Order: sequence, then structure tokens, then C-alpha cells
Amino acid sequence: MNIKCSFCQTPYTLSRVQMLDALQEMDSHKLTHYDAHCPRCRRATRVERKRMEIFFPNWREALKQFEAEMQAHPQNEAPLPAPEPAPVSPAESNPQPTVAKKQVAEKKNPAKTSAVKKK
Ligand SMILES: [Zn+2]
Repeated sequence: MNIKCSFCQTPYTLSRVQMLDALQEMDSHKLTHYDAHCPRCRRATRVERKRMEIFFPNWREALKQFEAEMQAHPQNEAPLPAPEPAPVSPAESNPQPTVAKKQVAEKKNPAKTSAVKKK
């Protein structure tokens, strides 16, 4: 959302992540406004919570998605717009050797026990 500094009239924007941060903070502290800091003069311009909620009505939903993405990719500070498609072919070739090894291991054990029982 766009904000204009009330001191030096510099226009600046709040990103979705900044708004999520602000809305979360206002919600937990029961505040009615957020202090947006001007990039030029560093002074705080008050942004009403109602105005921000109108601008970003589904922020609670977006916050859940954002937190889920942060848990999935903790090294990223911001969610990526489009995640890279994962390569499929290595995953397909892996299960077959594992299954073959298991079958060999299972076949060996019953043979040993039956041999012991016969004697
Ligand atoms: Zn300013």
C-alpha cells in the first residue's frame, strides 16, 4: 500500500510482508494504528489499522501461508513468488533398488531358520 510521509511528504510503499508484520503487531497489542517509518526522514507516519485491513482484507489467511512457507524454507526471508519445479526423474529411479535389497534380505532369513529347524 502507498503511504505519504506526513512530515516530508515523501511517498513510499509498504510491502505485503511489512503489512503482515504491522497487522500482526497491531492485533497482538490491540493497537488501532501502525507507525510506518519514512525511508527519508525516519519519522513515523500513522497508518490506521482499518485502512490497512481494507487494503489487505485476507491478511490472516496470508499470514498462515507466509508462516507455512517460512517453516518449509527457513533460509528464505521472504516467500518466493514461484517455487522452482522439482525434478521428477531421480525420485522415480530410487525406489526400485531399495525394494530389491529388501527382498534379498527377507529371503535369506527364513532359509536360515528353516535350516536350523530341520536339524
Ligand atoms: Zn519523511
